[in-house]
Amino acid sequence: MPEHRIPMSSPDLTDAERDAVLAVLHTPHLSLGPEYPRFEQAMADYAGVKHAISVNSGTAGLHLCVRAAGLTTGDLTLTTPFSFMASSNVLLYENAVPVFVDVDPVTGNIDPALAAEAARDLKTGGAAARRWLPRRGASDTAPLKALLPVDVFGQPAEYDSLLETARAHDLTVIEDSCEAIGATYKGKLAGTFGRYGVFAFYPNKQITTAEGGIIVTDDDEAATLMRALRNQGRAPGDTWLQHTYLGYNYRLDELSAALGRVQMTRLDDLLAKRQRVANWYATHLEGLPEIEQPKILPATTKMSWFVYVVRVPAGVDRDAVIDRLGTRGIPARPYFAPIHLQPFMVERFGYQPGDFPITEDLGARGMALPFSSIMTEDQVADVCAALGESL
Ligand SMILES: *Cc1c(COP(=O)(O)O)cnc(C)c1O
Repeated sequence: MPEHRIPMSSPDLTDAERDAVLAVLHTPHLSLGPEYPRFEQAMADYAGVKHAISVNSGTAGLHLCVRAAGLTTGDLTLTTPFSFMASSNVLLYENAVPVFVDVDPVTGNIDPALAAEAARDLKTGGAAARRWLPRRGASDTAPLKALLPVDVFGQPAEYDSLLETARAHDLTVIEDSCEAIGATYKGKLAGTFGRYGVFAFYPNKQITTAEGGIIVTDDDEAATLMRALRNQGRAPGDTWLQHTYLGYNYRLDELSAALGRVQMTRLDDLLAKRQRVANWYATHLEGLPEIEQPKILPATTKMSWFVYVVRVPAGVDRDAVIDRLGTRGIPARPYFAPIHLQPFMVERFGYQPGDFPITEDLGARGMALPFSSIMTEDQVADVCAALGESL
């Protein structure tokens, strides 16, 4: 396969980021210095929340939310099988059980009507609950405690309905906004709908810290606990070798925090640049009507473009299209692979193909095209031309 002439994704960095990282290297404070509280303050101000807790990955952030929510062995959480693996893995870390409901075929976000039905049945228990539970690995008397929606590809889930379900059944909402920083649903920022929200900063995300993530919340008690857990379980007042809780090293280092702090000042600009690239795709894909473009719902008052995922028509071999794009020097990726069909999920819960048909259909037809804020219109046109030839 030839070298790809356009990268799949790319961070958008300036000398401001490079200078900030370099400045950290001129200090002795490479961790637990002044940069991470600055980054956290910038995020708390942006999101309009009381607390932002930086961590060294989005996954770590989600895991701390699961701990703060008190989810433990056997507890059930409603979530989506159409996501990046981490949103379910964090439940398994605590031996809690993800209970999947299928997704909306337009957005790929958790189907709010199915979530409402599942919540009601799972609270009822017994035969009603079994309809939603995996073939094995979950008990029909286990409590349903949480709802974990994912804002897929940068488009917020349907929060009016989801929050009503959560209220009706007393579920803690953990919002995986790792793909959606800056997006709004009916004017309100993604990440601020749940008790906790998480953003992630891997280099393909809208802003990056290299590796990193952050939790946003208004919950004082949870914030204190999360700050302790990320720092090896040290509660306020603990010395370096006192550990009140079973904790982790989930701290964000100072180089990453400095990078994130500068990226935050550019967030609006970066999102606007990504919107411009998405608009170019929409225009240049007009000549390929058989390709399904991403659809943005009216409730999505601002899209935060994370990836640009199109769908090939039913019956077209998506993987063959990806291979042919590759021989033309254009990378493309299947996106997402359904979580319930990953080998260890099948082994643990007995899932089978056909269990979540919409997720599987989107998983079979979805294809992420190269996307970043620094793409040019010529590159977008190049990708679309190669796609036309590859169909
Ligand atoms: C990126 C992402 C995460 C977190 O990923 P990390 O690599 O751990 O930062 C979690 N959930 C979703 C849906 C993501 O896209």
